[in-house]
Amino acid sequence: MFATNLKKTGAYPQQKPTGPVEREPSHLKALRQLLEPGSRCPLPIRTRGAGSAATDCNTSRAGTTINTTALDRIISIDAHDQTVTAQAGVRLETLVNALAEEGLELVGSYDLQRRTVGGATAAPCFGPSIGNNGCYFSSHVVAMKILRSDGQPMRIDSQQKNLLSAFRMSFGMLGIIFEATMRVRPIRTFAASHRRVSIDKFATVVDTLARSDVGFKFYLMPYRDRVYLDLRRYDTDSGNAYSAPWKLKDWGESTVLPHIFKSLNRVVPIPSVKYRLMDSISEATQGLVNSKFVTNGTNAAAQSKRNSAARRCFYSTWCFPAANFSMIARAYRDFCAETYARTRYRCDMPANGYRLCRDARSILSPSFDEPMIALTTASTQSRGWDDFVIDLAEFAEKWGGLPVISQSRSLRAEHVIQTYSKRLDYFRRLRRQMDPDDRLLSPFLAQFFQ
Ligand SMILES: Cc1cc2nc3c(=O)[nH]c(=O)nc-3n(C[C@H](O)[C@H](O)[C@H](O)COP(=O)(O)OP(=O)(O)OC[C@H]3O[C@@H](n4cnc5c(N)ncnc54)[C@H](O)[C@@H]3O)c2cc1C
Repeated sequence: MFATNLKKTGAYPQQKPTGPVEREPSHLKALRQLLEPGSRCPLPIRTRGAGSAATDCNTSRAGTTINTTALDRIISIDAHDQTVTAQAGVRLETLVNALAEEGLELVGSYDLQRRTVGGATAAPCFGPSIGNNGCYFSSHVVAMKILRSDGQPMRIDSQQKNLLSAFRMSFGMLGIIFEATMRVRPIRTFAASHRRVSIDKFATVVDTLARSDVGFKFYLMPYRDRVYLDLRRYDTDSGNAYSAPWKLKDWGESTVLPHIFKSLNRVVPIPSVKYRLMDSISEATQGLVNSKFVTNGTNAAAQSKRNSAARRCFYSTWCFPAANFSMIARAYRDFCAETYARTRYRCDMPANGYRLCRDARSILSPSFDEPMIALTTASTQSRGWDDFVIDLAEFAEKWGGLPVISQSRSLRAEHVIQTYSKRLDYFRRLRRQMDPDDRLLSPFLAQFFQ
């Protein structure tokens, strides 16, 4: 057992920022050496998994960024205890495939399979999970091994409930996770159904859906006044699940659409023509791929890769109280129309959203107090995006949006501090104990966590 309370040591002499430096340790000893007091790594030190977060939480512009993707070993799969233990750099896709070979799956469903175990544990990672028993990847992490800011190892498990809940979604500020153990379960088939509705119709059902235990994901097209709903529930009679239709769906959404839209942005000069074309292609993809082919699945089969989407798209995610989302969905439609009329910028990809059940297993959980809807706005167009996300952040704040440190662009520190309030105070106190010399704290994170 290790004490968590480190003394402010001054053992790390002020180092002139000589970064940015990137290191990719392939074994624990090398990772440890980077953190040890004698290390010559410029500070601060930030950890990065797949690097898919939308903000600067995973880089250190002046110090050292530690890339964990070479720590990529699955240590054990325990079918009896229904757990898997893996190093932090293992990609979700690798984990899912290895589990499937043993007839097991992750408890939830998570898109973007190139994410790492470390990134999915240290940041909110969610998807269209069914049920109300933990909607984040980290909710199912039952033990972790970490290196503290001074390089000393530490193990945390479910016996230390409060500590474990602080380390889930800790953005690498309490230490570097090098190994995690997750709860898994036998593969279970769900029934999937798809609906196409107007935004007003969606507004009338979203609260009921959010309160139920159905897993859902939606695609919202504000300029067409359309919502495509992907609903998932466990069914006694779901039949076999085949991965091919899900792969086709994933390919359509995450590879074909961004690719075509990038080309259209280059070759079609008239915005009205271009956007009409893009919206029609989006609708056709949703209609064909979602409605006709995909009727059941498993968490293993239904995981989308979206690697290419991560490379091709800009995105910003905000979470909104599910109880108010009927108003917010309509307001978002109006916001998009008004912003386009004023700035001539609009997103070319549909926005998408997930239900987040109430989940207090992490201190910084976005749905700590109540069920939320996570709304992700995405676009392939860089020109105008930075201004757009400022307007989007204003819209989100006005509608009670909760910022996600790793995914909401143009965050305002005061808003973050106000929203997370007492939970943030607790986390900050613990952070100061765990990292008294601020070795793991970048200027970006210091805005909220110092
Ligand atoms: C196109 C696109 C779509 C997305 N859609 C979704 C979505 O649907 N749902 C969703 O939840 N997220 C989504 N994301 C966001 C992103 O995938 C998540 O935030 C994910 O959990 C980050 O995993 P990563 O491995 O990329 O971590 P990174 O982005 O590299 O890091 C995320 C945070 O975790 C910390 N960290 C990483 N590894 C460690 C470690 N070993 N120890 C300690 N701290 C660590 C980093 O310092 C950083 O603060 C999307 C991203 C993109 C690009």
